[in-house]
Amino acid sequence: MMGHSHALSGVVGWMAVVPFLNGTEVMGVRFDLGPGEIIAGALVCAGAALIPDLDHKSATITNTYGVFTRTLGALFNWAFGGHRNGTHSILFVLLMGGMTQALALWSDLAVQIFVFLLIGIAFNGLGYGMSKNKVAAEIINALATAGITLALYTSGVNYNWIGIAVAFGCILHFIGDMLTEAGVPLFWPVWKYRFGLKFMGFKTDGKVERNVITPVLTLAIVLLSVYLFPWLELMPDA
Ligand SMILES: [Zn+2]
Repeated sequence: MMGHSHALSGVVGWMAVVPFLNGTEVMGVRFDLGPGEIIAGALVCAGAALIPDLDHKSATITNTYGVFTRTLGALFNWAFGGHRNGTHSILFVLLMGGMTQALALWSDLAVQIFVFLLIGIAFNGLGYGMSKNKVAAEIINALATAGITLALYTSGVNYNWIGIAVAFGCILHFIGDMLTEAGVPLFWPVWKYRFGLKFMGFKTDGKVERNVITPVLTLAIVLLSVYLFPWLELMPDA
């Protein structure tokens, strides 16, 4: 799938699981998600849903922060055996989720920087900052990213769930790719079989993706917003 669809699926995915996660505890992480955490989580998840394609040199994420992400991308491509290999495996999900959670336990500042970078990637993926006037678009993107990160910071968003959101974003990426023809090697490097809809899957950036997937995901975001925010009001201590 294209970066755009992956980013949208991250937003939709996070919003869809919020009602189920709230008030529960998963792997020692207690979920108390208010409006700030819903917005932060949706953007973190959208950014994370682009991470697996860092192994591809023309992917949105690889070109988001210039030399920095291109170098990281080349490194990922080398370490994980080329495009759609190791970065599209369960091993990668555990690595990313675990490393992010460790980062969160280690330093608050590191988390803020990581969130800032992920939101920038998310906006780029969602199509914000990709217009014809590239320089202006990038400045607007950077300002919006900084503004939102700062707003989330000052509203005291708790990022204790960030590792899980990043892991979930990667999983959503796999689900998206499994709907396309190429499939995903979930058990890499042990078993390199590619899971996916080989014969009935759609083409990346084909008609189905542009005319069906994108509008459906966008509609889902609108409907989930209409549902989630009034629902928060009804929560006992919201
Ligand atoms: Zn992919």
